[in-house]
Amino acid sequence: MYNCRAFEAEQEEITVANVRTAWATVMNKRTFIRFFGALIASPVISPLLAWASNNKLTNWAGNLQYSTDRLYSANSLEQVRSYVRKQSQLKVLGTRHCFNNIADSTHNFLSLKSMDDVVALDPRAHTVTVSAGMTYGQLSPYLHAKGFALHNLASLPHISVAGACSTATHGSGEKNGNLATAVSAVEIVTAAGDVVKLSRQGDGETFRGAVVGLGALGVITKITLDLQPTFVMRQYVYENLPLAEVKDHFDVIESKAYSISLFTNWQNQRISEVWIKSRDEEGQAFDATPEFFGAKRATRNLHPIAELSAENCTEQMGVPGPWFERLPHFRMGFTPSAGKELQSEYFVPRQHAVEAILAVERLRDQVSPLLMISEIRTIAADKLWLSPCYEQPCVTIHFTWKQDWPSVRKLLPVIERELAPFEARPHWGKLFTTPPAVLKSTYKKFPDFIQLSKQYDPQGKFRNEFLNTNVFGS
Ligand SMILES: Cc1cc2nc3c(=O)[nH]c(=O)nc-3n(C[C@H](O)[C@H](O)[C@H](O)COP(=O)(O)OP(=O)(O)OC[C@H]3O[C@@H](n4cnc5c(N)ncnc54)[C@H](O)[C@@H]3O)c2cc1C
Repeated sequence: MYNCRAFEAEQEEITVANVRTAWATVMNKRTFIRFFGALIASPVISPLLAWASNNKLTNWAGNLQYSTDRLYSANSLEQVRSYVRKQSQLKVLGTRHCFNNIADSTHNFLSLKSMDDVVALDPRAHTVTVSAGMTYGQLSPYLHAKGFALHNLASLPHISVAGACSTATHGSGEKNGNLATAVSAVEIVTAAGDVVKLSRQGDGETFRGAVVGLGALGVITKITLDLQPTFVMRQYVYENLPLAEVKDHFDVIESKAYSISLFTNWQNQRISEVWIKSRDEEGQAFDATPEFFGAKRATRNLHPIAELSAENCTEQMGVPGPWFERLPHFRMGFTPSAGKELQSEYFVPRQHAVEAILAVERLRDQVSPLLMISEIRTIAADKLWLSPCYEQPCVTIHFTWKQDWPSVRKLLPVIERELAPFEARPHWGKLFTTPPAVLKSTYKKFPDFIQLSKQYDPQGKFRNEFLNTNVFGS
């Protein structure tokens, strides 16, 4: 269903502008350099991968080989417009961090990777406008240096702002909306090559429909994000939180700090690690007592999977640091793993959090053999049509799987069946088997979104198998 052709690619990390990237998942060093050489040299949009016939284009995890390697790179709004006008079918490729085929195309890919500049920082309005190829890892240190911060980040900073917001990517914190809730304006190139500008202030419902757009409305070329003054955070990790405490005190536990993540392998009736991210401002600082609901404060930095080295993880042990070096779990300077994993995640309305967690725990004997680690997070409600948190705060139950798709694929319907009574919604960018009709029934604004898509893309230029199946299918 998800076109997850197994693909074993040689992994090789390369440092570009101080950022170790995983692009080399699909390219060896030589072809990578040729790729970037082509990018820089190209005066106009150029077909970059036609020559790289031995190097197949895959997603970051390598579980999905994309259906074409016709990848074009645009350097300007005009190039985007001209390319879109010429093509009958295309998808924008962000940083390729989705695990399913939401970004896939059988025809053409457009990359905005080289459009990664800060367009405007408005200190009075507390906003920044960036070109859509920008990643959070590039943007965050810039903002901090200028005295600003974003409200939240995902578990890793390597992802593009446009791709992340398009799929309602989130961090944790019961008062924090997903990353797309920081978007206050977008510039989109529609299927006709027209430029549409939408803002939270000026375009109400249309704007709220477009922000989590699943890549269906057009090419996002610029995004404006809300900022706040930069802030200092500390991260603490606690080990072995009894599941009974979660059952009895989930709401209190989640209210204890700005962002809380619970990691578990579902064994031994316990949460193996509690990651607490606390802001230093008065009234917000977490009181890091040696015990937290029966869990013990860790005495060294930990990886979410305790057996693995914490080298790639953000600083813990209460060491103060800037927001962008504490909110993600993984540091910008490293790729978090070799990519040999799969991910699934389900959003459950917050009021069912404990029941849903216990429902998954009952599946532990089926889940654990395929699992690397699970993470439980909370997210505030929002007003974005296709956000899984539309008008409801959520708890998310995430699974990092071993890369065994045939077995995971059999297990997902079992998990989905257990979570169905809570109207669980899968993460748009991760692996799921929820039938399209069920998926649609959980989103009140689906019909409006389809209307909006047809307005911007009447012929389905930006559609692909994922969208045809999950959004536009009957
Ligand atoms: C190791 C790892 C950790 C992760 N952690 C988290 C996490 O903490 N929280 C979470 O919620 N998710 C997480 N994810 C999931 C993932 O980050 C998101 O789903 C996100 O979409 C990835 O962004 P991308 O740019 O790589 O998207 P891609 O896979 O490149 O694209 C995703 C979608 O966005 C569209 N798109 C991208 N750019 C544009 C554009 N300019 N205009 C129009 N459409 C566009 C694409 O067409 C596609 O439909 C994680 C993934 C990985 C691999």
